Amino acid sequence: MSVLVYTENWEGKFKKKTFELVSYAKAIADKIGSEVTALSIGEVNDEELQKLGQYGASKVKHLESGIDTLDNKLFADAIAKEAENSSVIVFSDNFTGKALAPRVSARLKAGYVAGVGALPESFGPFVVKSKVFSGKAFGKVKINSEKKILALQTNSFDIVENPTEVSIEKGSLEGEATTKLKDVNKVTDKIILTDAEIIVSGGRGMKSPDNWGGIEELASSLGAATGCSRPVSDDGWRPHEEHVGQTGKVVAPNVYFAFGISGAIQHIAGISGSKYIVAVNKDDEAPIFNVADFGIVGDVKEVIPKMVEAVKARKN
Ligand SMILES: Cc1cc2nc3c(=O)[nH]c(=O)nc-3n(C[C@H](O)[C@H](O)[C@H](O)COP(=O)(O)OP(=O)(O)OC[C@H]3O[C@@H](n4cnc5c(N)ncnc54)[C@H](O)[C@@H]3O)c2cc1C
Repeated sequence: MSVLVYTENWEGKFKKKTFELVSYAKAIADKIGSEVTALSIGEVNDEELQKLGQYGASKVKHLESGIDTLDNKLFADAIAKEAENSSVIVFSDNFTGKALAPRVSARLKAGYVAGVGALPESFGPFVVKSKVFSGKAFGKVKINSEKKILALQTNSFDIVENPTEVSIEKGSLEGEATTKLKDVNKVTDKIILTDAEIIVSGGRGMKSPDNWGGIEELASSLGAATGCSRPVSDDGWRPHEEHVGQTGKVVAPNVYFAFGISGAIQHIAGISGSKYIVAVNKDDEAPIFNVADFGIVGDVKEVIPKMVEAVKARKN
């Protein structure tokens, strides 16, 4: 019985989080004496598929599909079919994983745990730790079913190179598409917050919406998305889609910059999956420093222009 990992692609390319997921699946496979099968659906070339072998997949099942968007029913059918020979099925705990994993769970009558942040604590019984109450606590969950489905949070497992000879098996996605993407009206060219590798975020300490120029400049020179705390969007300083936290977007970038954000628990609930948190706050006792990996005690008005300058100098 293999460990099956669903590997999402973005316009034919895998992202860092895909390789994290394959590394995680490989670590589980090693623990249970099994191998990793990666399932990929959509237009991805063989060179890209081969990359999955670099992180421990020994087999890649590639289903070509004529459809240009995620079709929950067809994708879940295909994953459930491929999972017939798998004991553990791994998804990313992102929008796609949240759409597919519960459907696969229902089809296979398999126990499903979301918000997983580490390898299972034990395999017999199968116990895994997961984030609960919007990340304010952890729960230990025992899965009793024969098949187990895990959704892994981004940035919770290191990428591990594990070069493995990979065989690619081709097939095609079966069934009639249940939905058709008719038209896409892209309202903005900005980087989507939940996809961003870097986020530059501001809180009430920015004092006024007129002071956001530096945040936008820093974000643009870093190729980052912009975010904010809830009061900032509640006051109409920034659009609601930038609101990060328990009642806003939950993000997991490589780097999260928090400028003038106090670090209330409801904000932290949305950023705890970040790999590195960089905080700038003039109050050295601000709770954000308890979770920050790097901190600067200082005034955002002075620090942001210096950061912009430093990033530009580095790029040049
Ligand atoms: C049910 C519920 C849900 C909530 N959900 C969310 C949520 O999803 N997301 C969220 O963000 N909040 C949420 N909140 C609100 C949350 O409790 C905090 O009130 C909010 O996060 C505080 O925002 P802030 O850090 O921007 O502002 P403040 O708490 O006012 O902090 C401002 C910070 O800026 C610093 N500062 C001031 N001037 C400067 C300067 N010149 N330079 C540097 N630093 C400076 C201050 O020292 C302070 O630490 C929720 C609250 C409730 C009750």
